Order: sequence, then structure tokens, then C-alpha cells
Amino acid sequence: MKRHLSSIVLAVVALFVLSGFAAAAEVWSTDIVIVGGGAAGLSAAVEASQAGADVMLFEKLPIVGGSTMVSGGGMSGAGHRFQLAAGITNDSPEIHLQDMLREGYYENDLRLAKRFTENAGAAIDWLADLGCQFEFQPNYQEHTIQRFVRSHPYPGTGIAIVQTLEKAAKDAGANIYTNHLVTELITDTSGAVIGVQVTKKDGSIVNVMADRVILATGGFVGNDELLNRFAPEIMAMNPKVAGDTRLQGEGFYLAEKVGASLENMQFIKVYPTGSTTKSGQDVYTRFYVPCLEGGILVNREGKRFVDEKAAFARIYDELVKQTDGRMFVIFDSKQAERVLQADTPFILGWSNEQVAKDMEENTLIGRFDRIADLAAAYNIDAEALEETIANSELSTAPFYSVEIGPNMMFTLGGIRIDDDARVLDVNGQVIQGLYAAGEVAGAGHGGNYMSGNYVAYAVVYGRIAGINSANDVLN
Ligand SMILES: Cc1cc2nc3c(=O)[nH]c(=O)nc-3n(C[C@H](O)[C@H](O)[C@H](O)COP(=O)(O)OP(=O)(O)OC[C@H]3O[C@@H](n4cnc5c(N)ncnc54)[C@H](O)[C@@H]3O)c2cc1C
Repeated sequence: MKRHLSSIVLAVVALFVLSGFAAAAEVWSTDIVIVGGGAAGLSAAVEASQAGADVMLFEKLPIVGGSTMVSGGGMSGAGHRFQLAAGITNDSPEIHLQDMLREGYYENDLRLAKRFTENAGAAIDWLADLGCQFEFQPNYQEHTIQRFVRSHPYPGTGIAIVQTLEKAAKDAGANIYTNHLVTELITDTSGAVIGVQVTKKDGSIVNVMADRVILATGGFVGNDELLNRFAPEIMAMNPKVAGDTRLQGEGFYLAEKVGASLENMQFIKVYPTGSTTKSGQDVYTRFYVPCLEGGILVNREGKRFVDEKAAFARIYDELVKQTDGRMFVIFDSKQAERVLQADTPFILGWSNEQVAKDMEENTLIGRFDRIADLAAAYNIDAEALEETIANSELSTAPFYSVEIGPNMMFTLGGIRIDDDARVLDVNGQVIQGLYAAGEVAGAGHGGNYMSGNYVAYAVVYGRIAGINSANDVLN
């Protein structure tokens, strides 16, 4: 199905002369171009290649994986084999959908959420059939019926998912080019997308002509311009970034340039976990570790403002209402002893030994013999704090504290697509030749994310985009 190269070269040369694009030294041709090698792009590559289409996937980084690789490797779906093996047979896509809509504050693009939940369980089984191992983890409270799995080996990462998909894509014949940055979408005079312009590692440019292009470029948590444009309230709180800062949102610029509509761009997944060491390093503070031992969260007014054991999303919703969007976790020396024995260390990426060392050196965790000193150090109302502590389980000095603010993880909006993953313009019309999948088209999640839904969403829509684009090309 590859296009005939020589006939295209003339057309492309004419096109670039007319459009003002830099003429490329090389012109390639394929059925389907996929931009981005995370869960969405790789899933599309597997499906389209298995269907018989000629596929080129371009990844800007030296390895595939994107945010999927650094994720926790968690996936959620109804009715998959691991849920059934655990004896849970009363789940359904409809119940999953209702959970997702509630957790997304009913801001979800309903068509996208519905199609996702109808296919999420099957996506987990599909990955398992491709060889990915999963463990059922029934301890996620926002799911009314437990349906969360985590990939193995390399628990707590998405490495197994990425490796499985990369192997399957290559086995099916997909051509994967790393260190290739897609910089433009090429359109014809009708506005249909007919290819991409790619910059190779050596700086040379290739024009790749294709019948279909799938954008799977991930989110924009690393792009301050887009964050300031779409989420100024969050940026005003001077948030930390816990997510993958390599996610620069190139896909949004590419799509906007060809007239695509964007939706739900203001929704960013932010955790109430962002702290900074004295040397300026952003860290992820697991405030719940000391809070499980009786530690408390207070605001600058020295008051507790939320149930410390509430779900993350609830704590975040309250955090943003506090002065400067800041809170302080405080615990005493007896609680500190138990914090240092926790299975999950207080600071993500640190060992308990590192936490203990910091309690001595105070590069992050402040140590105070008197509450008045703690209050002064963080500019907290001292009188109110004394009263709050007197009414808590905290009693034994020294007291420990960390300042915490918003921590951005990933983005929840994106390019508007229909539930067949076709990109829509501002009038709701399909932009011919262009699909999008995954975090770059994330509006199905609404205003908040539910554990495990994003990797599954990327796989579901990557598969849909791969199958549909192959159908377009082959039939
Ligand atoms: C720390 C962390 C933990 C998470 N844990 C979970 C979890 O356990 N479960 C869950 O469901 N979700 C989780 N998420 C969210 C989830 O990982 C992502 O939403 C999902 O993996 C996105 O997949 P994707 O394929 O759309 O994008 P990505 O996996 O980010 O892939 C996009 C790829 O496109 C490439 N790219 C971008 N622009 C270009 C360009 N112009 N040219 C070429 N290549 C380009 C990027 O380099 C990247 O490799 C987590 C996120 C983070 C940051």
C-alpha cells in the first residue's frame, strides 16, 4: 500500500514552493505516520501494522516510552481476566463510566469516556495476550468496584507495558524512528493532512507523505506557555512539576495550526504533594505517611482545613482554597519514629535513611523544639497553631514540618476528537487524514483523573486510531 514515491516527490516540491515550507532533501512515503511512541502511539502501531498497513512511528526522544514509561504502570478497566480471577464478576463498563464521570466532576467529554470504558477491560486483556504481566491491586477507593492492575516486572513503572508494545509493534513490521522530531503537519489545498515534516537527529529534514497521520504526542505538563495560557490559576500558585517535563505539548501546536479544536485544556492533574528542598530541588512529599500516624495538615492561619485521611483529590480541592495554595504537614517525634519505618518513604525517591538524615540536616524537613519557632519559620499564625496542636495527638518535641503546594502530574484536556479518534475542527467537522489518541486528546477524563484510567485510555484510543486508520488505507 505504499504510495508511489516518484509521483509524490513532484507534488511535494510544488507544495512546499507554494506553502513556504523549507524544502526537504528527502521525501519518504508510507500508509500511516504515528507521531509519538508512548502507550497510545505504540498501540496504534501494533494495530495498524497487524492489519497490514505500512507504518512509520516517529519519536523525538532517544527511546520510546514517554510519560507511559515513567508512570506507575497502573491500568483500570471493567471485566478483565485479573478482575474475574479475583472473583469480582459484578463490574461493567457502565459502572466504570459512572465512577469516571463522578471523579471527573461531570466535565468529561461523555462520548470519549463511554467508548473508553467500553474498551478498557479488553485493552488490559489485549496487553496480557501480547505478553505483559499484571497484578490485581484491589485498593483504590475511588473505584466503587475494584478493577485496577499494575504491570510487572519493574513494579511502579510502565516499563513492562512499553516493552510489550514496542516488541509487538516491531514484530508486526512497524518502522520505529527514535530521535526524530515531527515539526509540521503537511496539508493539501483542501486542508486534509497528507504527511509530516520531520527533523532527524543530525538536523536534516525529511518530508514523510502518508495517507493518515496519528498524533500521539502526550500532554503539556512541561510547557509553561501552554500552562499559562490554559491554566493561569494553577500557575499563579507557583506549582511544582512531578510529571514528565519532556512533555512539551508539540502536538497541540501542530493540531492548532491545521485548525483542530481543543477542549478541557484548563484541567491539569495536580497532586497536593509539591515541596522544594533548600537547594531548589522539587520533590513529591507523601504527606499521608505522617498523617496515618496522627500527623496533621494546617494552613498559614494555623488551622486544620481538611480530613487528613481524605482522598488526594479532596485534599487538593481544599488546598487550592488556602492562602498561597500552601499547607504544612506537622508531626511529632513519636510519630517520626513510625514514619521512618513506613513501607513507602515519606519523600518519593528517597529511602527511609535519607528521610532520617534530612530530619537531622533540615534541607527539606524542618525540625523545631518549640511550636512558636515552627510557626515563625513558615509564617504561620503562632497563636492559632499552638491551639491546633494542643487539640491534636501531637505532644512530644521536636516537631517536624514540610511546606507543601500543588504538584503538576499530567494534563487532562486536549485535541477534540470523535469517539473514532478522528480530529475535529472548531466547527465539529473531521479534519481529513488526521487522528489523535492518548494524553494529547485526554478530554474523556473531565476535571480529574481516576487511578489507572490514563494508561488504559492511551491504549484504548491508540488501538482505535490504529484500527480505523488502517481501515481507511486498506479498504
Ligand atoms: C509520574 C507519573 C505517574 C503516572 N502514573 C500513572 C498510572 O499509574 N496509571 C495511569 O493510568 N496513568 C498514569 N500517569 C499518566 C500516564 O502515564 C499518561 O497519561 C499516559 O501514559 C500517556 O500516554 P501517551 O501515549 O498519550 O503519551 P506519552 O506516553 O507521554 O508518549 C508521548 C510521546 O510522544 C513523544 N513526542 C511528543 N512530541 C513529539 C514530536 N513532535 N515528535 C516526535 N515525538 C514526540 C514524546 O517524547 C513521548 O515519548 C502517570 C503520569 C506520570 C507523569
